[in-house]
Amino acid sequence: MTRAYIGLGSNLDEPAEQLRSALLALDGISATRLAAASALYTSDSLLPGQPRYTNAVAAIDTELAPLQLLDALQAIENGQGRVRKERWGPRTLDLDVLLFGDQVIDLPRLKVPHYHMHARPFVLYPLAELVPADFHLADGRSLAQLLQDCPFVGLERL
Ligand code: ATP
Ligand code: MG
Ligand code: MG
Repeated sequence: MTRAYIGLGSNLDEPAEQLRSALLALDGISATRLAAASALYTSDSLLPGQPRYTNAVAAIDTELAPLQLLDALQAIENGQGRVRKERWGPRTLDLDVLLFGDQVIDLPRLKVPHYHMHARPFVLYPLAELVPADFHLADGRSLAQLLQDCPFVGLERL
């Protein structure tokens, strides 16, 4: 059984509802259960001209292998109407593997820890709700240090 952390994001079609549905869907993945979920946070899109984002982080326990989990996450994204056009385009649902146990993964389809989580307050602050204060990422980085380097700016906790 592996504890993994999933970053959820949406900025189309009732984002808060999208995230609530996605949390139920995470709990429905085979050999997986939802262990905890953060509050929802909203923030402006990093790219101009897109609707505001809603984000959260979920803790799951899974017996799946990392790529099996990614397949399941992408099936949930597709099931909630995710259409991939331009990179970082607006989306009904984004599910990213932030952390997968203590594994560092560097595959074409899956890089863990998520390559940009250190710079995203809408990932780090919800993650911090779910882990102990002395939490370290699989590659050794301290979450407390990452939080210190990534101020709580532009984020609203719902
Ligand atoms: P970003 O990765 O900057 O958050 P994004 O989430 O919008 O952007 P997607 O279009 O959802 O990007 O995914 C692009 C590809 O990233 C996927 O096809 C997937 O194979 C790959 N990928 C690599 N690492 C991960 C990860 N840790 N979690 C989810 N997808 C990943
Ligand atoms: Mg993403
Ligand atoms: Mg993604």
